[in-house]
Amino acid sequence: MTPESTPILESLHSVFGFSSFREGQEPVVQHLLNGKSVLAVFPTGSGKSLCYQLPALYFSGLTLVVSPLIALMKDQVEFLKEFDIAAARLDSTLSREETKGVHLDIRNRKLKILFAAPERLSNERFIQVLQGQMIDLMVIDEAHCISEWGHNFRPEYLKLAKMAMRLNARRVLALTATATRKVAEDICREFSIEPEAFIHTGYYRPNLTIRFHVVQELQQRRELMLKRVQENAKGPTIVYVTLQKTSEDIAYFLQSEGLPCRAYHAGMNNEDRNAVQDWFMASDSAIVVATIAFGMGIDKSDIRYVYHYNLPKSLENYSQEIGRAGRDGLPSACEIFAAHEDLIVLENFIYGDTPEKKAVSEMLAFLFAQETLFDISVHELANAFDIRPLVVNTLLTYLELMNLLESTQPFYSSYKFQLKSSFEEIYLRFDSVRTEFLKKMFAHAVRARTWFSIDLAHTAEAIQEDRDRLIRALQFLEEEGHLILQTSGFRQGYRIVKTPDDHGLLEKKLYSQLVNNESLNITRLNHVIELVNHSGCKVRFLLKYFGQNRNEDCGHCGWCLQEKNLDFERNSVPFTGIGREQLRALFEETALTSARQMARFLCGITSPLITKKRLRKHPSFACLVEVPFANVLKSLEILLD
Ligand code: ADP
Ligand code: MG
Repeated sequence: MTPESTPILESLHSVFGFSSFREGQEPVVQHLLNGKSVLAVFPTGSGKSLCYQLPALYFSGLTLVVSPLIALMKDQVEFLKEFDIAAARLDSTLSREETKGVHLDIRNRKLKILFAAPERLSNERFIQVLQGQMIDLMVIDEAHCISEWGHNFRPEYLKLAKMAMRLNARRVLALTATATRKVAEDICREFSIEPEAFIHTGYYRPNLTIRFHVVQELQQRRELMLKRVQENAKGPTIVYVTLQKTSEDIAYFLQSEGLPCRAYHAGMNNEDRNAVQDWFMASDSAIVVATIAFGMGIDKSDIRYVYHYNLPKSLENYSQEIGRAGRDGLPSACEIFAAHEDLIVLENFIYGDTPEKKAVSEMLAFLFAQETLFDISVHELANAFDIRPLVVNTLLTYLELMNLLESTQPFYSSYKFQLKSSFEEIYLRFDSVRTEFLKKMFAHAVRARTWFSIDLAHTAEAIQEDRDRLIRALQFLEEEGHLILQTSGFRQGYRIVKTPDDHGLLEKKLYSQLVNNESLNITRLNHVIELVNHSGCKVRFLLKYFGQNRNEDCGHCGWCLQEKNLDFERNSVPFTGIGREQLRALFEETALTSARQMARFLCGITSPLITKKRLRKHPSFACLVEVPFANVLKSLEILLD
């Protein structure tokens, strides 16, 4: 390991084999070594990780890196191991044994750098393991998630600031590729970062040409994009779309035109996604039509084109997505093909997240009626109260931040297994006492088609055995190759710290926070339209959004190239065709109970309840898909009055 006296430039050569620092890296490393906390805002691919990898070598204690992306953590750990730096990760894909091993390594001070997902910090056991340690540096990757002004606000990130204090982290390094002025302010405030320790390299990318097209008809859009792909020289290309289905449709369309093209989205299984990614990485002409899931872990420097087949949902997303083009510095082209339909789809995603006020109040009543120690499944709560799972999580986190709840630990309530040997073959391998135990346990396994499932709490109670013994037995059988084991039924444990004094007030507060998130997301979407419509240099507009003033036009964006001025107008399709009578009938048929639920249904926005009641098959589902949600909601409220 590098002795503390080695100059940092020498370590950069000798440990990592790099000849010089990239822009921004050196001041970040210097500040950290001087004991300061730092916010570093560099574009993706510009080498943010080195900013902690290098100083970590100079610290005697641990560097804890909190990162939400499991794939990236894996890559990082492998990268560091290549350089003989002791690193490990803790994430949900590790087995119990592996997790124990890492805990032990932490206790024995064997690790220099530890990666953990943010939710890991909701695990008391993990916190206990860390509390005995000297944490010299805590790194927050994707730090923009901490700000409600950021495009991907994750309230559990706010817990990280508290955690940095609780763990006595000596200094913090916050990393992100995009931060508006407000977001940067939030990050600096939460982690006590001084203004001079905010290091950013600027967003201007002179080798990118950004262009815009507004199309009136969907058919026209396909043709236009095809034309663009055909007229441009071949090169690695990403086409971003909003919906999984569009990614398949467009990939199919381009394939049928003889182009090397594949779809990529979160609905595909890991294996298929990895195959697409490998294929893309190895090619110099591949086209991937992807939802935003694609690109996170991609370190490919020669991406020549990034097309937005659909409008991006925010300027932060847009700038990250186009930022994947041309990292080698060579000219690259980015183009948006916007259509009015895109707007409604994106708005509906946003509106679908806001639950009913009543749902929030019922969920609160449920939570605070529990015993002091209790556990929940987010999925169950989502279904019970008709709140999207992500929003259930958000609400729980708000309650934690208000010091009403405290998370204890996550666990699995059940296991699923598939037999590789028959039960009879298994029993033959054990003595009579163990066989008896296994028989009793398996008597409580419920068989589906090929998988069995075992509810641990229920089975342990029924056969009067320890829950841990059941788990150990199943794990042993897996190790011996008798079965394939999977955990299921994820639950999070909580402790009630304090019952709220005033339920009404709490409801109001939480609900208004959700409504506030909704309106911030809508504003963010409107900024994208402003960029498309802006008569002026688009690059300057974009830079200004991120707080950077540029005095001259870029000379190479759509506007500077004098492409025809665009006009993306809102298509305000009016609310028509549904009268009081019909509305009453619809309420009866669907058994929905409120204006908001009905508005979602008519606009084609799903919710746990709509899915559960199979209402997507109803002939009126999505019948007003072209009318803005806000209009539908307002009209319904008037009709119901
Ligand atoms: P980011 O997190 O900013 O997206 P990474 O930290 O993943 O970027 O770095 C991107 C690539 O740049 C990596 O392959 C890394 O090894 C390389 N890199 C980082 N710093 C340097 C440097 N000073 N010289 C050369 N390559 C570097
Ligand atoms: Mg990174």
